Amino acid sequence: MATIGIDLGTTNSLAVTYREGEVELIPNGFGEYLTPSVVHVSDDVLTVGKIAKERLVTDPENTAQLFKRSMGTNEIFYLDGEAYSATDLSTLVVKQLVADAESYLGEKVDEVLISVPAYFNEKQRSATKAIGQRLGIKVERLINEPSAAAIACHKIGKDESFIVFDFGGGTLDVSVVDCFDNVISIVSIAGDNFLGGSDFDKAIAEGIDLEKLDTKQKSSLLLSAERCKLKLQKEKLAAVSLTYDDQYYMKQYTQAELKSIIQPVLDRVKKVIGRAVSDSGYRAHELDAFILVGGSSMMPLVQSYIMNLLNLPIKRLKDMDELVARGLGTYLA
Ligand code: ADP
Ligand code: MG
Repeated sequence: MATIGIDLGTTNSLAVTYREGEVELIPNGFGEYLTPSVVHVSDDVLTVGKIAKERLVTDPENTAQLFKRSMGTNEIFYLDGEAYSATDLSTLVVKQLVADAESYLGEKVDEVLISVPAYFNEKQRSATKAIGQRLGIKVERLINEPSAAAIACHKIGKDESFIVFDFGGGTLDVSVVDCFDNVISIVSIAGDNFLGGSDFDKAIAEGIDLEKLDTKQKSSLLLSAERCKLKLQKEKLAAVSLTYDDQYYMKQYTQAELKSIIQPVLDRVKKVIGRAVSDSGYRAHELDAFILVGGSSMMPLVQSYIMNLLNLPIKRLKDMDELVARGLGTYLA
């Protein structure tokens, strides 16, 4: 019997275990660590993850994403004519991760730790715990995401205060966290539930001005914009494109152009950081470093922006999209 940790993300989810003295990320059936938190149902066939994410383009009406935002609410998602709550959909994601973990580990999973945003209230936390009951798995504990990220970076024996900057696909969460020995305390939190990597994708997609796109075409354009954004992290030039009414539309971007179109998003980021720091009671220079979490904090443009903003170093420049899971692995030790 195994216990695993699950980073149940708004955009992507990830499972982790602790074996032979080490934190070990668990690959899914595709050999990848990240499983998109997306569910698709049609003709009674249910898919979760990468294949479901592709269905956002080909069958958006029967595909659900970003449902973590609705945890603990009465919002209903309709897929293939059936009603699903956010808890139902999250349960399907966890079920998939557990099944992938069981086949990877070769044993049954009977206990899980799940990470949740620090701002989750009692209702959202019980909705997350209910996932375990539905699957017959014990939810050993819920761990706050910034605490998991901080423990993954913290050196025992050192007193440190960090600003955990978690910039995912659709949400920004900024927390000031104290680490004293192995005690992690969250001093302040601030966030924007509608600010993330998808805003960069939207800004890029707007380079193609097509007002009358239907849902399918919009999803396809946004995925092309996301690919363009990812390509621009490594290459000087990339393009977003779409074929529409037998016409091919294309817009190229340089890295410098990307920098200017994402500035309004960075201005919003600045406000959230400002709130977290001012609510913490610390002055920026009293904090030790940024801890970067989430796929969107992999962007060099984001990194240089926040470093200059507070004149603070970044603690660790890798694994941003795996850090919460790695921290959960530490809790499993
Ligand atoms: P969440 O915590 O919301 O589930 P993630 O932390 O996995 O999400 O972040 C997903 C977001 O990160 C997406 O918008 C994706 O496009 C973006 N992303 C992933 N890798 C990179 C990268 N190398 N550069 C820029 N953005 C990235
Ligand atoms: Mg996340």
